[in-house]
Amino acid sequence: MKEFLIYSSRCFIDSQFIEATLHIKNEKILQIYKGIHKIENIPFLDYNNLIVMPGIIDAHVHINEPGRETWEGFDTATKAAAIGGVTTLIEMPLNASPVTTDVNAFKLKQDASKGKLHVNCGFYGGIIPSNKNDIEDLLRAGVFGVKGFLTHSGIDEFPNVSKADLEAIAPTLKQYNIPLLLHCELTDDNVPEVTNPKNYQAYLESRPQHWETNAIDLALDIQKQFDIKVHIVHLSASKGIERIKKRKQETNKLTVETCPQYLYFNAENIPDASPIFKCAPPIREKANNNELWEFLLDDGFNFLASDHSPAPPNRKQLESGDFFKAWGGISGLQFTLPILFSEGKKRGLQTEKLIPLLTKKPAEFLGIDNIKGDLKVGYDADITIWDDSEEFTISEDSIQHKHKATPYLNESVFGKVIHTFVNGVQVVENSKLKTLQQGQLLIKN
Ligand SMILES: [Zn+2]
Repeated sequence: MKEFLIYSSRCFIDSQFIEATLHIKNEKILQIYKGIHKIENIPFLDYNNLIVMPGIIDAHVHINEPGRETWEGFDTATKAAAIGGVTTLIEMPLNASPVTTDVNAFKLKQDASKGKLHVNCGFYGGIIPSNKNDIEDLLRAGVFGVKGFLTHSGIDEFPNVSKADLEAIAPTLKQYNIPLLLHCELTDDNVPEVTNPKNYQAYLESRPQHWETNAIDLALDIQKQFDIKVHIVHLSASKGIERIKKRKQETNKLTVETCPQYLYFNAENIPDASPIFKCAPPIREKANNNELWEFLLDDGFNFLASDHSPAPPNRKQLESGDFFKAWGGISGLQFTLPILFSEGKKRGLQTEKLIPLLTKKPAEFLGIDNIKGDLKVGYDADITIWDDSEEFTISEDSIQHKHKATPYLNESVFGKVIHTFVNGVQVVENSKLKTLQQGQLLIKN
């Protein structure tokens, strides 16, 4: 079906819900009609009052292939994306093997994705101390950004960088106008000694707020010094907010994201011996997370992303319960929309405000907002259709990620994705996969 019409009384167009009919033809939105509009001989998909919106763009995903396919892979991750209404994702330069720190590794990753992309997929490159001379080639080859760690990444072949390393590549990033993405934790020894590694509070205290704020200060310095685009991934520490806010008033080159896990869970409710909740930076206390919500409601975050970062159950130490030995990363790409919508409902987040944080705004960050992230004539027909009224429970059989272990299991939520279209093809129908391999490889140009 190359040409069809999608109707709903609630299409999200020009930042509001209106009754409209979208005319889709050959991968694109050909026309948008106000109200109900049928055309003879063109299939008419009547979605009644379901929400019709641009497909979700998840700008922070770890897929781990090639090299660590036992953790996650393109096939399973992009199936989960499709079921979750994510039509485009950008993959991080770790934790595949090799890590994406030169053009050769970038090509291997693209090759590994062939035939396995069920949604659109682009890539970031990585900066480590030894690859400064590879950055320009990576940028030319079409990565959407360059990611670095300011603390140990958990992957030995992806060591953290120093300020001097970042200073060395900043002029190149400036020349290509490509963002530097930073994992902001700056390690020091000013942390309590660990006596019980199964205790969540002990894990939380091992990665204190000041690690994040010190790293954010470094990120802000680099941003200011070179006037480059700097993006702070997964902000967790609310003490970082004020300095970010201040700098954002002076420049639009500083951007910041947070992730569903920091907005949905609170440290007080995380049981001991449950490393399924382990991520870095850690999920903090309720009071902290309330401040993240305030910042969100105040338009402080540029966008929201999943930071989907799975690992096999033994790596997650699900049996031993040891937070310190466990892999840090949360599996949840499929549930970004229901988790944020459900918690947002309680927090007074309007759906009209949530949708752009998952669509238009990440598209702007990635520089693809001329073709994606909006329902507009001429745009790619990446469309997510969902039900905001019915509550459902996240069950194991619905999970498409390679490993089913996720802290979102058994949560009761609203916001079920019913249909997903990728490049004008229906890939999900009635919450089940329908057509595979419709994703395209995205190269930044
Ligand atoms: Zn990540």
